[in-house]
Amino acid sequence: MTVSVVLFTSDLRLRDHPPLSAAVAAGDYVVPLFVRDAAIAASGFAAPNREAFLRDCLADLDAGLRERGGRLVVRSGDVVDVVRGIAARARAEEVHVAAGVSGYAQARERRLVRALEADGRRLRVHDAVITAVAPGAVTPSGGSDHFAVFTPYFTRWSAERPRRPLRAPRAVRVPEGVPSGRIPRREAVRGVAEGLAGGGEKAGRALLLSWRRSGLADYAAHHDDLPGDATSRLSPHLHFGTLSPAELVHLAREKYGPGSDAFVRQLCWRDFHHQVLAARPEASAADYRERHDHWREGTSAARDIQAWKEGRTGYPVVDAAMRQLLHEGWMHNRGRLLVASFLTKTLYVDWRVGAQHFLEHLVDGDIANNQLNWQWVAGTGTDTRPNRVLNPVLQGRRYDPDGVYVRRWLPELAGLAGRRVHEPWKLGAAERAGYDYPEPIVGLGEGLARFKGARERGRERGRD
Ligand SMILES: Cc1cc2nc3c(=O)[nH]c(=O)nc-3n(C[C@H](O)[C@H](O)[C@H](O)COP(=O)(O)OP(=O)(O)OC[C@H]3O[C@@H](n4cnc5c(N)ncnc54)[C@H](O)[C@@H]3O)c2cc1C
Repeated sequence: MTVSVVLFTSDLRLRDHPPLSAAVAAGDYVVPLFVRDAAIAASGFAAPNREAFLRDCLADLDAGLRERGGRLVVRSGDVVDVVRGIAARARAEEVHVAAGVSGYAQARERRLVRALEADGRRLRVHDAVITAVAPGAVTPSGGSDHFAVFTPYFTRWSAERPRRPLRAPRAVRVPEGVPSGRIPRREAVRGVAEGLAGGGEKAGRALLLSWRRSGLADYAAHHDDLPGDATSRLSPHLHFGTLSPAELVHLAREKYGPGSDAFVRQLCWRDFHHQVLAARPEASAADYRERHDHWREGTSAARDIQAWKEGRTGYPVVDAAMRQLLHEGWMHNRGRLLVASFLTKTLYVDWRVGAQHFLEHLVDGDIANNQLNWQWVAGTGTDTRPNRVLNPVLQGRRYDPDGVYVRRWLPELAGLAGRRVHEPWKLGAAERAGYDYPEPIVGLGEGLARFKGARERGRERGRD
C-alpha cells in the first residue's frame, strides 16, 4: 500500500493541483492535510477577513474531497511537527507541497525537507502552483536571479507556456485512522467586514464564469473605472489558491476572447512581484531600493495616519477608497494606488504603516503583492519613476468623473452632485456647512513640496 500526504497551503483547490494529482497518481492512499499553523496565528497575519474567507475555503475543499470519497484532515500546531506526525501515522512515503515564495514559506520547506529526511521520507516540491510561472523560471541575461523591472519580465514571461491545466482527481482515498480536527466555522470569526465576499473553489469558479461572460471583454477599457467596478475581483481566490493562476493564463490565452491580453498582463504583475519576493524575501519589510527616507513620525504624523485609516483626510476619493476597504475587506486597484501614494508621498508616511493596515483588512492581503506594491508606490520598490505623486483631485476627476464612487462610499457627501464632490472645500461657506466632512488635512502643494524636499535630502544622504 502506497500513501502520500498532500500539504495544502495557498492552493486550496482540487482542479489544476499538481501536488494532489501527483499524489493520487503515485499510489493507493492520500492524506489531504491543512495545518492551522501556530506560527502564522502568532504572527497576527490571520486577520479576521482572511480567516473568514479561509474557513469557507477549507469547508469547500473538504466538501469537494468528500464528493470524491475522501476528506480534508485539518490539524493545528507547528506545521513541521504536524506533517511529520501525520506522515508517520499514515506510513506515508512522500509529502507533496507547492513551492512557496515568501521567506517564511521557503524556511518551512527547508525545515520539512530536513525533518522528513531524518525519518526516511521525501518532500516533493511542485513549482508553478501558486504562480503561473515559477519564480526563477525566467531570469534576465547577465546572471541576476530575478527581474527588477516589469516590462522585460513581461516579455520573457509571455514566451513561457504554462502546463495544460490538470483535472481534479476523480477519486481520493484517505487511509483510516488519521484523525482530523473540526473545520472551524466562518460565523465564529469576529470583526469581519460587512461586505466580505465568500470563499472556496466553487465560489471562485462561479465568479470566474460570470466575470468572463459579463466583464472580461470590457476589461482593457474599464479596469481603472472606479464606479464601474469592472475588474474581476478574483484576487482573494488567487491569494488562497482556490483558482489556479496557470489555469487562468491558459484559459485567457486559449479560450477567452477580447480583454484577455490586459487581464493576462495583470496576472503577470502578480508573478512579477512573487519572483521579486522569492529572490529577496527581506523586501517584505526592508526597502528594496534604499531612498534614505526619514519618514514622518510623532504626533502630527500619528494624527494624519489615523485620518487616513478612517477615511477622513478631506480628500473624497482617498476617503471613499479607505471606506471601501473597511466595508468590503477589498479595494479597487486604482483606489489602492491613490491611497498609497497619498500616504507615502503627500503625507510622507512610511509605506510599512500603510502595508500593515492593508494586511489587517484586505481579504487578498498577500506578502508578495501587498508589500511590493506598497514599495512600488512609495518609490522604494521596482517603479522606474520612483518620485511620481498621484494627485487625488485629478485622479478622482479622471477615474470617477461624475463622483459616483465617492458618493457610494461617503454618505456624508451623497447630496453633492457631479464632479464638485471631489473638491468640497471649494463650496461657499453656507453650502459647506451642510456637509459633515473634514477640511483637507494637508494642502496638496504643501505635501508635494515636503515630499520632494525629503527625497532630495535622502539623495544627499545616499551620496555621503
Ligand atoms: C498599495 C497596493 C497594495 C496591494 N495589495 C495587494 C494584495 O495584498 N494582494 C493582491 O492580490 N493584490 C494587491 N494589490 C494589487 C491589486 O490592487 C489587486 O490585485 C487588484 O486590485 C485585485 O482586484 P481584481 O482581482 O479585481 O484584479 P484584476 O484587475 O481583475 O486583475 C486580475 C488579477 O491580477 C492580479 N493583479 C492585478 N493587479 C496586480 C498588481 N498590481 N500586482 C500584483 N497582482 C496584480 C491579481 O491577482 C488580480 O486578482 C495591491 C496594489 C496596491 C497598489
